[in-house]
Amino acid sequence: MNKDKMLVEAIRDGIVLDHIPAEKLFQIVALLHLDELSTPVTIGNNLLSARQERKGIIKMAGHFVSAEEIDKIALLAPNVHLNVIRDYQVVEKRKVSLPSEIHGLVRCSNPKCITNAEPMQTFFHTSIEETKGAKAVLECHYCGRKTRAEEAELL
Ligand SMILES: [Zn+2]
Repeated sequence: MNKDKMLVEAIRDGIVLDHIPAEKLFQIVALLHLDELSTPVTIGNNLLSARQERKGIIKMAGHFVSAEEIDKIALLAPNVHLNVIRDYQVVEKRKVSLPSEIHGLVRCSNPKCITNAEPMQTFFHTSIEETKGAKAVLECHYCGRKTRAEEAELL
């Protein structure tokens, strides 16, 4: 049995986020407000993946994440693996996937964009850039400004 599998099997019900790029781990910890949880949370970083890359892992027992939180994780790190554990079994295992459109969640980085002047929801088209690791790119529907998702200001 490999060690990753043991980590996943150690909780009864909850979520395991695996293959988090090491440099993104604490951004995701902040995004999920893990400091406010009273349920057990295990955070590991700089663990070696099968491909010998440094990765982070977050295990949350008795806690699940919302669809909006999953979208935000996908914005920061589009290849994170999400495992849903119920009664010690992995019942769902997938990569967090970036929706093709993002409504709200992120501010447009163009100060002249209409979404920064009017009380309206932002709207972005997403794509993945595969140079130097997968990076999500957001293109504003209204002004066309492209922003790297990891540099975008979350709302
Ligand atoms: Zn815009």
